[in-house]
Amino acid sequence: MAGYLDARPRVGYFYTGKSGSQLLADKVKHITVNDYQSRPVVVQQSVSVYDAICTMFLEDVGTLFVVDANNTLVGVLSRKDLLRASLGKQALESIPVSIIMTRMPNITVCKKEDLIIEVANKLIDKQIDGLPIIEEVDRGSGFEVIGRITKTNITALLVDLANDEVI
Ligand code: ADP
Repeated sequence: MAGYLDARPRVGYFYTGKSGSQLLADKVKHITVNDYQSRPVVVQQSVSVYDAICTMFLEDVGTLFVVDANNTLVGVLSRKDLLRASLGKQALESIPVSIIMTRMPNITVCKKEDLIIEVANKLIDKQIDGLPIIEEVDRGSGFEVIGRITKTNITALLVDLANDEVI
């Protein structure tokens, strides 16, 4: 009966008046990125498109985050970014990913304390598959990538909700 009934001292149990869907909405609105994140996969901005494709296959991810020599986030690479670069006749070993990536400041990011529902809204609004979870480094000089949140994580949340496995 979690959520349907509440208790007050000297009153006892009483009906909260909330419907099942209201209770579900309340639950979802408390879940943060921290509860449903994945490990980020990053590449240096100097690596070639060829090496990035290999990394994407080997690490079994759909989005790579690109960092500079200080490990600061500078770009994002999606599957289609790499496919597009592969369409021409260029030697993929000689094209650095920095030429084809989506770069800062145009990257949509989130923090680990953000609500997962806000991330879901960003994914739909921007029509992208995932976001880097970032932490600010050296007071505004850039962002370190500490995690990754994707449509797959949101799907895992949906399954947990259906199985009533969300705390
Ligand atoms: P795909 O292109 O494989 O369908 P996405 O929909 O995630 O994958 O990416 C669409 C475009 O948006 C790509 O050019 C990619 O570089 C860019 N992109 C992906 N993630 C982000 C992000 N978090 N912020 C900004 N741009 C992104």
